[in-house]
Amino acid sequence: METPPVLWIVIPCYNEEAVLPVTAPMFLNKLRSLIGGGSVSPLSRVLFVNDGSRDGTWELISSLSREDEHFLGISQSRNRGHQSAVLAGLMEARDRCDITISIDCDGQDDLDAMDRMVAEYLDGAEVVYGVRAARDTDTWFKRSTAQGFYRLLNAMGAEVVYNHADYRLISARVLRHLAEYREVNLFLRGLVPLVGFKSACVYYDRHERLAGESHYPLKKMLGLAFDGITSLSVRPIRLIAGFGALVSLLGFAGIVWAIVSALLGKTVDGWASTVCIVCFLGGVQLLSLGVIGEYVGKTYLETKQRPRYIISERTWECDET
Ligand code: UDP
Ligand code: MG
Repeated sequence: METPPVLWIVIPCYNEEAVLPVTAPMFLNKLRSLIGGGSVSPLSRVLFVNDGSRDGTWELISSLSREDEHFLGISQSRNRGHQSAVLAGLMEARDRCDITISIDCDGQDDLDAMDRMVAEYLDGAEVVYGVRAARDTDTWFKRSTAQGFYRLLNAMGAEVVYNHADYRLISARVLRHLAEYREVNLFLRGLVPLVGFKSACVYYDRHERLAGESHYPLKKMLGLAFDGITSLSVRPIRLIAGFGALVSLLGFAGIVWAIVSALLGKTVDGWASTVCIVCFLGGVQLLSLGVIGEYVGKTYLETKQRPRYIISERTWECDET
């Protein structure tokens, strides 16, 4: 039998001293049961990423790591946000394990989905998305804002898996390719699907936070949506170009209308020429903005220096993939 994969569970923590003592033993139990069941290696670990917390989170993580060898911790030099914390953990884990599972530290995501994620991996999937089946425990407000969030993202050209947050399994191989995406504005949910490879979804119910408070109020959600759209897609710029074309058409109709009215003698002096100039300039300006925007958008995408191709299979043996 093949040796089981080494799993690192990556957990971002920001000011979580209230919930960590509750959830840390849950993560450890889950890891132990996975190890016991033989689906992951005994060398598997739980990696906490302290995201510049201002409370006792780091002290807690340090003492956890002294108590049990399965617990490890790293700390960001300051608060950089959830996405950055997850990435830091994943990159730290990349060369030390075979698979990672990222999950929030507040106990909202069902840990039992991990068994199914690992099973999907053993079945050949290299990325397994945790997808919330029900949002019953969320408030109506949170549910509808979250739904709007996914709709807006997809409408604006940032492809994301519906109802999937950052609870997912990623293989080390995919992580090595993810590392080639060097962008600073991070939106992992949109970036991971871009890397490709065989993926699967695992559905689970989302619980309420076990303790402490959410760090994602509406303002931050809007910020994240805006970041997601602008870092993954130049569709908003295309909208300007499209709008410019529309205004040009309307402007043309306006010019025809003004000339016809003037010829029919229904207007005062100077009206027709003024309307013609306004319509013409309005259309030309917006269309020009759209053209410039198209180049700005291309420049933006080029500056990201994303990988131009990623090879997933070869017919000959090769260590690189
Ligand atoms: N988090 C983080 N840095 C931040 C904000 C949040 O690492 O600046 C972590 C937080 O500790 C938690 C996860 O990101 O593990 C999700 O945050 P939260 O539960 O507050 O968000 P919600 O589930 O309400 O969307
Ligand atoms: Mg949460």
